[in-house]
Amino acid sequence: MPKTAMRKCPSCTEWFYPDRYNAYQQTYCTKPRCQAASRQASREKRSAKNPDHFRGTWNVERVQQWCREHPGYWRRGRRCSDTSLWRRSRKKGDGRFVNSYAYRGRSAAG
Ligand SMILES: [Zn+2]
Repeated sequence: MPKTAMRKCPSCTEWFYPDRYNAYQQTYCTKPRCQAASRQASREKRSAKNPDHFRGTWNVERVQQWCREHPGYWRRGRRCSDTSLWRRSRKKGDGRFVNSYAYRGRSAAG
């Protein structure tokens, strides 16, 4: 089966070979500019999927506002304004996904 087919980068419109282990999710080429575009696009996709969740600065403000109103909730070693907390938990989830499912499942299916 073909492991890596060439793809066209939607940002710079050049053809490229996606990374073998990353092919299922790599839509953009490896140029820094296109990687930035890729991150931006996935952010937009995510916020479209979860309109009530990650909405950039609007969400940060909302969380901080919520924290001010519920100071007790965050007392266990967490700081209210520490919005990196949200990023961290999401990153953890991605790692688990890649390790357990994506590497084997998708590449085996072709
Ligand atoms: Zn590109």
